Amino acid sequence: MLDGKIAVVTGASRGIGSAIARKLADEGATVVINYNGSEERANAVKAEIEGKGQKAVVRKCDVSDFASCETFIQGVIKEFGRIDILVNNAGITRDGLLMKMSEEDFDQVLDTNLKGAFHTIRFASRQMLRQKSGRIINMASVVGVSGNAGQANYAASKAGVIGLTKATAKELASRGITVNAIAPGFIETEMTAVLSDKVKEATAAQIPLGTFGQPEDVANAVAFLASDEARYITGQVLHVDGGLVC
Ligand code: NAP
Repeated sequence: MLDGKIAVVTGASRGIGSAIARKLADEGATVVINYNGSEERANAVKAEIEGKGQKAVVRKCDVSDFASCETFIQGVIKEFGRIDILVNNAGITRDGLLMKMSEEDFDQVLDTNLKGAFHTIRFASRQMLRQKSGRIINMASVVGVSGNAGQANYAASKAGVIGLTKATAKELASRGITVNAIAPGFIETEMTAVLSDKVKEATAAQIPLGTFGQPEDVANAVAFLASDEARYITGQVLHVDGGLVC
């Protein structure tokens, strides 16, 4: 389905991003696995993909850094000649109540989750405009829609990702580029592993489908939005949350 496509996935060394990298490779894309700190794990994802006879490369870049993103994206364009799919998945949490939240914790989350997506889109979209085609998929969160106590920085970043998605979708639509966001609910990764069993149970009880989702549930939605079947969908936020926020 994605044969011959070049897909860049940020934060693909683990969690949801690694599941997205594996899924897009399964569909035939050559995947650029971006990481920041987890080099070994990024290489393990690459080895797994190559073990199935599929194609992947690993590239380090801190998405919160504008200049590094320029080097990263230009490097991919130089190497592969195009970018068909850009998945802005890299994200962090620095949870805490607003009254006690440091400026650093606020800035780090905004710089990674929101500005990180701006940085890569800023450089990849120029190439997509030349190609007159492209798919951009940004990882938001249900928390960006509903808010969540203790996550003012994270919720603001994800609400920002939704705004960025909608504005960019309008700017790029006339050139055949679609831009959508996915809003996962609670997905089993290291990000949610830090929650206590009590919080996990209470959260699962709020989810109409009854359980946390798996990284593959999000990866399947990404593969759909990246596919030809989704050609007429842009500027949307697709919830993958078991019905948590409707
Ligand atoms: P995770 O397991 O903590 O993985 C985060 C990934 O982001 C890692 O691959 C990490 O790479 C990468 N990353 C962090 N900072 C980076 C930076 N500055 N530059 C490049 N990469 C960076 O998180 P996850 O649960 O898979 O979450 C993935 C995305 O889904 C995030 O945007 C998150 O906000 C969103 N999300 C998750 C959930 C959930 O329930 N898990 C729900 C809603 C939304 P390194 O380790 O290599 O640094």
